[in-house]
Amino acid sequence: MTAPDVLVLGSGGAGLAAALLDAGLMLAARPGVFCAGEMLSWDAPTGGYLLTACLATGRRAGLSAAEWLAG
Ligand SMILES: Cc1cc2nc3c(=O)[nH]c(=O)nc-3n(C[C@H](O)[C@H](O)[C@H](O)COP(=O)(O)OP(=O)(O)OC[C@H]3O[C@@H](n4cnc5c(N)ncnc54)[C@H](O)[C@@H]3O)c2cc1C
Repeated sequence: MTAPDVLVLGSGGAGLAAALLDAGLMLAARPGVFCAGEMLSWDAPTGGYLLTACLATGRRAGLSAAEWLAG
């Protein structure tokens, strides 16, 4: 088993579609690659206030990576 990659991308209009990810925010096509924050595609009519969702998805992705490593 290899260590999971952690991808972190900056802001942008596009992102990874939910259909590409499992419930733990791992890319289905790239097992061991977990995604969070602005690299995800979401509708956020919050006027730019995105930190809560970025932190929440980061937590989810981190926990999922730990579970994945533990097998
Ligand atoms: C000016 C401004 C003000 C904002 N104010 C607010 C606010 O008041 N409230 C709020 O909720 N949201 C605010 N936001 C939005 C919020 O800051 C972002 O949505 C959030 O920080 C995105 O988090 P992220 O982890 O997805 O990406 P980022 O915070 O952009 O983190 C990405 C990290 O990855 C690093 N990185 C990039 N490429 C690589 C690479 N190849 N290898 C390694 N590291 C890499 C970058 O250096 C960076 O540290 C603001 C955004 C901006 C630009």
